[in-house]
Amino acid sequence: DSRKYTGIVEDCCCDYETVDSLNCGVLHTLLQELVRTPFFRYFKVKLWCDCPFWPDDGMCMLRDCSVCECPENEFPEPFKNPTRHGLRSDDLKCQEGKPQAAVDRTLDAQAFRGWIEVDNPWTHDDETDSSEMTYVNLQLNPERYTGYTGPSARRIWDAIYAENCPKYTSGEICPEKRVLYKLISGLHSSISIHIASEYLLDEAKNLVPRSCERNLYFTFMFVLRAVTKAADYLEQAEYNTGNLEEDLKAQSLMRQLLYNPKLQAACPIPFNEAKLWKGQSGPELKQEIQKNFRNISALMDCVGCEKCRLWGKLQVLGLGTALKILFSVDDKNPPNQPLQLQRNEVIALLNLLNRLSESINLVHEISPSIEKSMEFT
Ligand code: FAD
Repeated sequence: DSRKYTGIVEDCCCDYETVDSLNCGVLHTLLQELVRTPFFRYFKVKLWCDCPFWPDDGMCMLRDCSVCECPENEFPEPFKNPTRHGLRSDDLKCQEGKPQAAVDRTLDAQAFRGWIEVDNPWTHDDETDSSEMTYVNLQLNPERYTGYTGPSARRIWDAIYAENCPKYTSGEICPEKRVLYKLISGLHSSISIHIASEYLLDEAKNLVPRSCERNLYFTFMFVLRAVTKAADYLEQAEYNTGNLEEDLKAQSLMRQLLYNPKLQAACPIPFNEAKLWKGQSGPELKQEIQKNFRNISALMDCVGCEKCRLWGKLQVLGLGTALKILFSVDDKNPPNQPLQLQRNEVIALLNLLNRLSESINLVHEISPSIEKSMEFT
């Protein structure tokens, strides 16, 4: 298989073959089942296109990318008031046709409750502000090819790389900045792989430079480390949607993922965050990188296709949650900074891990002909 990689995943603690076999043998199936449970399929998101960086380029108005606005009374009460249950799903219709790129806001009879509202310092959106937020059923809105391309899409990726996480040549930049670049590049690869796997037309080929594909493994390991580091918290968390059977299933799948014997035997610490922020300038560097990541998060409001914006926001919040778990909570002094996560952060984190896991599986399925000769570091 020409797309199999060997050796240790750069800056990680395990090799490619181990990641492949763990993902394919255990993690992928668990994650696929987990994200289908009611708890993990509703994501709260502000979908307005309110780009802080450029004047409107008209992309937000594109018919194909627009979504019909559901009247207020179509949103179930328990979503507004999380302590109540018993949704009616019969009149939840906001289905003015379903263009490929539009977000389908159909809801089914589930709700969440009992999570703390705390803002994530790594992201631009204020997660405690519920105004203009809406719930989206992720199962009805899979990330896929939408036709969003050209200068608008290109401008976002360019701004992300040029201003917030410049490409590097080996050894040129400090490890912390390299981590940020690789996280974004890995996410970019994952998005491209999903597009390519579903839309293998000529123009969809050559989407993923090979070395960027390796960054996908890095991002996967980083997020996996965050999930397993937060194991105690995630095990005790309440996965309550009012559907006992499904909620118990979510909890059980979560445990199987967090305390997986195969994972613990083969790759107990997928990424070692303790090596970072060591030098004297550690705190300032962390501030700088946090600011860069917040800018990347703000750029998601400039994504001119609503479905892409949805998944962009979800995955950037997932990365922001991983960063928060690994870098904002002090291991040595936990009582001062106990880990507090929002329900929505956990949903984003696990859905992101699932998307990355899918991409790793897909890497071996897509034709070698999509390889790009151009190499990145
Ligand atoms: P692009 O993917 O736009 O890449 C631009 C340039 O970045 C490349 O030419 C190369 O120089 C560099 N590059 C490419 N890959 C990497 C990498 N992994 N690491 C580092 N550098 C790299 N389209 C959809 O159809 N569905 C979606 O769900 C979707 N979601 C998106 C979400 C976001 C946040 C953004 C910004 C765009 C999204 N798009 C989506 C658009 C999609 O990502 C591409 O921009 C589009 O398909 C055009 O691809 P392209 O080949 O021109 O290169």
